[in-house]
Amino acid sequence: MRTLDGKVAIITGASAGIGYEAARLFAAEGARLVVVARRRLELDRLVDEIGAAGGDAVAIAGDVRDPALAVAAVAMATSRFGGLDIAFNNAGATGPNLPVPALGDDDWHMVIDTNLTAAFLGARAQIPAMLARGGGSLIMTSSFVGHTVGFPGMGAYAAAKAGMIGLVKVIAAEFGAKGIRANALLPGGTDTEMGRAATATAEARGFVEGLHALKRLAAPVEIARAALYLASDASSFTTGTAMLVEGGVS
Ligand code: NDP
Repeated sequence: MRTLDGKVAIITGASAGIGYEAARLFAAEGARLVVVARRRLELDRLVDEIGAAGGDAVAIAGDVRDPALAVAAVAMATSRFGGLDIAFNNAGATGPNLPVPALGDDDWHMVIDTNLTAAFLGARAQIPAMLARGGGSLIMTSSFVGHTVGFPGMGAYAAAKAGMIGLVKVIAAEFGAKGIRANALLPGGTDTEMGRAATATAEARGFVEGLHALKRLAAPVEIARAALYLASDASSFTTGTAMLVEGGVS
């Protein structure tokens, strides 16, 4: 018996990085998947890879800021796989690196919407489907930024990621008695497209690596493994938490 046999999961931000690795891992552990992001080609590649390994996944391409996408992903999980047990609301973007006085309205809204609002839109659509199954596990990818550290230039991003921690605490309280767990996952610097963009110079890379006690960035699969733990029954008494997977930052 594999960890997620019989489970159905939605994973957003699955075209790259942490979401891509989580999709491979969840599928290898038996989950059937709806994978979501904007880049259709990357999603198709992922679906093919999962299928070739004996798993089952379907892709929906779209922007997580669109409320209709969250609804469509749940409808796909239900029509194709019979319901929804797990949602890994993981898509995110940092936006322009600007000090707070220089942040434009559009910059602020893009970052808040892509991270925090998208996670809310996902949860709003996913919770009723989980209730219909008698419970589920909802995970949002927050960040060590906004919790452990306050990087200059990341005001909107830090606010969005901190907001997710509050949101999962409320969902945990609202639906714990009905079998739904909700947790925030807080990665440290991770070697993905986003992580590499934030550490493009040798100086920036050295600074971020140096923040971590392990003196390196995480591999995306190291974060995906924590998502698997939160998705699975191994974390059955864990809800409303901010789970740090940040390689030791103090
Ligand atoms: P990547 O840049 O590798 O992946 C980001 C994913 O989010 C991609 O699949 C991208 O897909 C998707 N995405 C971004 N914007 C949208 C959108 N508007 N609509 C739909 N999908 C979108 O980065 P990571 O894997 O590192 O990021 C995953 C999560 O981890 C994010 O929430 C990020 O904030 C968080 N995080 C990352 C850290 C790091 O150092 N890398 C540290 C802490 C947290 P596409 O472009 O195809 O739409």
